[in-house]
Amino acid sequence: MSAILKLGRARSAWGLLRTQKACMSVALPQPNPQPNIQYNKVFINNEWRDAVSGKTFPTINPSTGEVICHVAEGDKADVDIAVKAATDAFKLGSPWRRMDAGERGYMMNKVADLIERDRKYLAELETLDNGKPYNVAFSTDLELTLRCYRYYAGWADKNQGKTIPIWGDFFSYTRHEPVGVCGQIIPWNFPLLMQAWKLAPALATGNVVVMKLAEQTPLTGLYIASLFKEAGYPEGVLNVIPGYGPTAGAAISKHMDVHKVAFTGSTEVGQIVAADAATSNLKRVTLELGGKSPNIICADADVDMAVEQAHFGLFFNMGQCCTAGSRTYIHESIYDKFVEKSMERALKRSVGNPFDSKNEQGPQIDEEQMNKILALINSGKQEGATLMAGGKRAGDKGYFIEPTVFKDVSDNMTIAREEIFGPVQQLMKFKTIDEVIERSNINKYGLAAAVVTNDLNTALQVANSVRAGTVWVNCYDVFDSCAPFGGYNMSGNGRELGEYGLEAYTEVKHVVIKVPPKNS
Ligand code: NAP
Ligand code: MG
Repeated sequence: MSAILKLGRARSAWGLLRTQKACMSVALPQPNPQPNIQYNKVFINNEWRDAVSGKTFPTINPSTGEVICHVAEGDKADVDIAVKAATDAFKLGSPWRRMDAGERGYMMNKVADLIERDRKYLAELETLDNGKPYNVAFSTDLELTLRCYRYYAGWADKNQGKTIPIWGDFFSYTRHEPVGVCGQIIPWNFPLLMQAWKLAPALATGNVVVMKLAEQTPLTGLYIASLFKEAGYPEGVLNVIPGYGPTAGAAISKHMDVHKVAFTGSTEVGQIVAADAATSNLKRVTLELGGKSPNIICADADVDMAVEQAHFGLFFNMGQCCTAGSRTYIHESIYDKFVEKSMERALKRSVGNPFDSKNEQGPQIDEEQMNKILALINSGKQEGATLMAGGKRAGDKGYFIEPTVFKDVSDNMTIAREEIFGPVQQLMKFKTIDEVIERSNINKYGLAAAVVTNDLNTALQVANSVRAGTVWVNCYDVFDSCAPFGGYNMSGNGRELGEYGLEAYTEVKHVVIKVPPKNS
């Protein structure tokens, strides 16, 4: 029997779902916690192949630590074949290059139709491989993924150039052409959505793609590849390689025939990708990296609302969000009340089997991340922060961590500086807006920021002053395919999504034609 996902339940879903009626009444079908695995190989030229090396790697269910299945381990040899396939698909006169732009849009909408058809299965697979709650995968991840493909399907025949009135007897115009072979490397925190953010703008604008999936979560990305084939994409247009970063990923960044690389993941690896791109063929690079986002709660905030929003802004997706509001700055006049209520809220957060819809929080992605987060929690205790909730592993099976809250956190502590990427909330005190803006900007990152206030002047002051690619006022984690996303500073470069997101996948060509002089 279907349950209806109500607004109230969406406490653990993105702010988007709270504001958009369309998502509130999506029927949530009962999940099958053991979906059948259909694809576990390398996808090149619309065919499934073993890795050239014959090697495989296990993908793990993070709720149990057990192996789900083994997946082909692509590396440089597979990337070389995939790049050759993509290059052939991109040749002048190929079916892909001759395809009308509008037809590309229809095909992408067909992919979205197929995702809609298989929405339940994809949500089950995402929960199995990634550990995120099934109801969130179904309602949020799948909804945003669908919207992203449909949004860029609409752009396919609208990415148009200009005519330009240059001096002299010339007809001057620009063509917006695809960049060519695009390498794309994605992380594990939102496997379906990160794949959509990369594939949709690249393919809508006529590029060809070689994508490496995250080693922790290869399964949904491979299934999506099968849907592109089913939708009728010509062979070689999309190639998908499961495998490891330092082998398959690096082979993409270093490849001499890849024209552009788009990467989402850690700042450290982003630097490696950019260096590899620079020292190979100067391929174009866009990077979406980490964050340590400030969430500023002003004295006039509705404390209950702000507590819930800050809780959601940090704990959503097990804290595994590049935008996590992991520096919560609270005005000193409401600090104690805010701490108390944040602690109560964290203690109420239900952790456990992500297929059980009563649980708001599933496991962390893998043992390595779990241990890294536990070590950071320890550093918080050792450096003098006060632990108010959680602080330990939850259970002894799978990679669950208790929702953790620290108060008395100061800017120089490791937990206030480093991206934790886990369910660990830092509550810090501030006195004045000027002071908190300055403190917000001391970090090396600059992905997102938020402010909770009823004072328009304060909201504008913060929005204009923080160095961050996105600023939320009285909301958190509101994303939309129509609006740009990306970072300042070491949170990356370039923008994804929206019209701005087309730039990364478009070369602008200027054509000048001599015309006869006006009076001849
Ligand atoms: P990561 O290493 O940066 O992984 C992101 C992607 O890059 C994965 O596909 C990874 O491959 C690949 N990669 C790794 N080394 C590479 C290399 N030398 N060349 C090209 N590609 C390479 O991130 P992680 O280790 O999974 O997570 C570590 C930290 O990164 C997290 O704690 C978090 O702070 C941050 N992170 C941020 C985001 C974000 O959305 N901004 C997402 C995930 C993680 P593998 O599959 O083999 O790892
Ligand atoms: Mg996995």
